Amino acid sequence: MQFRIGILGGSFDPIHLAHLEAARIARDKLDLDFVYLVPAGNPYHRDHVVASTEARLAMCELAAQGHDWLKVSKVDTDRIGNTYTIDTISDLAGEFTRDFPNDSVEWFLILGADAYKNFPQWKQPEEITKNVSIVVVSRPGEDNQELELFPCHFIDVPGWEISSTQVRLAAKNNETFDELVPTSVSQYIKTNKLYANQ
Ligand code: ATP
Ligand code: MG
Repeated sequence: MQFRIGILGGSFDPIHLAHLEAARIARDKLDLDFVYLVPAGNPYHRDHVVASTEARLAMCELAAQGHDWLKVSKVDTDRIGNTYTIDTISDLAGEFTRDFPNDSVEWFLILGADAYKNFPQWKQPEEITKNVSIVVVSRPGEDNQELELFPCHFIDVPGWEISSTQVRLAAKNNETFDELVPTSVSQYIKTNKLYANQ
């Protein structure tokens, strides 16, 4: 069988509803069999992540519950050092070949428009595009334009004004963030007081 598989990487600090909607719309538009959520191990472009790797993974697992087309991969959290997407793709491909030696995959890398804008500065972007097709989901307030050097499937949606930063701030300030994340994730954040003292 030939699978069509999406990859959505991120800090997921925490995962929120726009992540899930971006994954869903990419799945629908490109007829993907499933989408891997891949929490970053140690995002090199940020000073630090606020929640622990375990907490970010646990929230991704909670968010994926009940969606059989969503899977959580630990390839990046299991690797020591900075997370580079070129490694994510090669590790996922290695896992896939081990698990399904008789099947093949067409890979799709899903990016929000802000991540896509920085894509030319990533490690080995040309190499990445040899192995995956790029799928970009528009994000409010971003350029939302296709880059000439790195063509993509551009999915233009009205979009969602949601970010993890917004969730962390709301949690810290004791404001509600229930409408920004799945209920199970909201409960996890509250039970573990995740962003109270960032
Ligand atoms: P932070 O505010 O901490 O940067 P974030 O909301 O941007 O968090 P990330 O984990 O940085 O979330 O993003 C992971 C991926 O999801 C990136 O490709 C990003 O562009 C995409 N993404 C996040 N939020 C949205 C959104 N509201 N619309 C479209 N894409 C999004
Ligand atoms: Mg971000």
